[in-house]
Amino acid sequence: MIDLHMHTSCSDGQFMPEETIRMAWEAGVTTAAVTDHDTTAGVAAAEKAAKHYGLQLFSGIEISTQGAAELHMLGYGIDPDDPKLLAFCRDFQVQRKARAVRMVAYLEQCGAPVTLEEVRQCNDGRCSGRPHFARTLVEKGFADSVQDAFARYLTTPEFYAHVERQKPLPENAIAVIRHAGGVAVLAHPYLLYLEQSQLDALLTKLQASGLQGIEAYYSRHTPAQTQCYLRLAKQHGLIVTCGSDFHGPAVKPDIAIGTGICGNLCVESREIPEALSKKIAIARKTRGETAKF
Ligand code: AMP
Ligand code: FE
Ligand code: FE
Ligand code: ZN
Repeated sequence: MIDLHMHTSCSDGQFMPEETIRMAWEAGVTTAAVTDHDTTAGVAAAEKAAKHYGLQLFSGIEISTQGAAELHMLGYGIDPDDPKLLAFCRDFQVQRKARAVRMVAYLEQCGAPVTLEEVRQCNDGRCSGRPHFARTLVEKGFADSVQDAFARYLTTPEFYAHVERQKPLPENAIAVIRHAGGVAVLAHPYLLYLEQSQLDALLTKLQASGLQGIEAYYSRHTPAQTQCYLRLAKQHGLIVTCGSDFHGPAVKPDIAIGTGICGNLCVESREIPEALSKKIAIARKTRGETAKF
C-alpha cells in the first residue's frame, strides 16, 4: 500500500516520526512519505525508522500557500537540509507564533477563551497550529469535536481576514521545493472548492511555475472527484500521488494510515512511486537550474 501524506508530532500530527512509520508498516504500507506542515524536522528520524522496517520512504513537506483558503503544496524528494528551504520554514515558525497570539485574542472575543499554555499542552510546548487550538477548544467544552472547532472558529471569514498568517504564493513554494531538489505536487485539490474549468486553469498556471503532480487519491475525495483529478492529471501530463493525510486519532479521528476513511484509499499501484522516483531523479540533477522544468 502507498501513503505519501502523513503528519508527525514535528507539526500537528499526534505521533513521533518513528512511531508514525511503525504504524504505517503495521498497517501494510510499503511506500511512505512524511509531509509535515512547513518543516522537514521529522525526515531524518522517519528515514531511520523506514530503513529498520524495510519501507520505501520519500522525504516530504507540505507548505500552506495563499490563493485559496487551503492551497497546500507537497514537496517530495527534497533535501531536508537545504539552506533555502530551512530559511523559508523558519519564517513560517515566526509567522505561526505571531498568529497564535492573535488566535488567543480572537477566541477570547468569540467567547471561547484559551491560553497559549493550555494549547501547548497538546504539543509538548512546541509551535502551535490550528489543530492544537481545536483540540484545546474541545477539551474546554467550546466545541463538540475538532471538526466542529474548525467550523465554528478556525475556518470562518473573520479568521481568514484578521487572524490568518501571511502565506507564500504557491509559485514561491514550488520554487523552494525545486531548489531543494524536490518535486512539487498539489495537495488535496478538493479543498480548493473550484469548478473543473477553474482547477484546469490553475493547473496550467502552476505547471508553468514547475508543478509536476496532483494528489488525485486522497482520503476525503469522492470516487467522482478522484476520477476527475486523474483525468486532469492525464490531460496536463502531471504525475498522480496518493495520501491519507493521517494525523492520528486525536486530530483526524476518521483517517487511518494507508487505508484512509473506512478503507476508501488502499492504493497499491507500483506506477505511482516509480513515476515519482523518476521525477525526483531529474529534479535532483537539474537542481539549481531554475528555468528548466
Ligand atoms: P495550520 O497550518 O496551523 O493553519 O493548520 C492546518 C491544519 O489544519 C491541517 O492539518 C489541516 O488539515 C487542518 N484543517 C484545516 N481545515 C480543517 C477542517 N475544516 N477540519 C479539520 N482540520 C482542518
Ligand atoms: Fe495538519
Ligand atoms: Fe493539507
Ligand atoms: Zn496534510
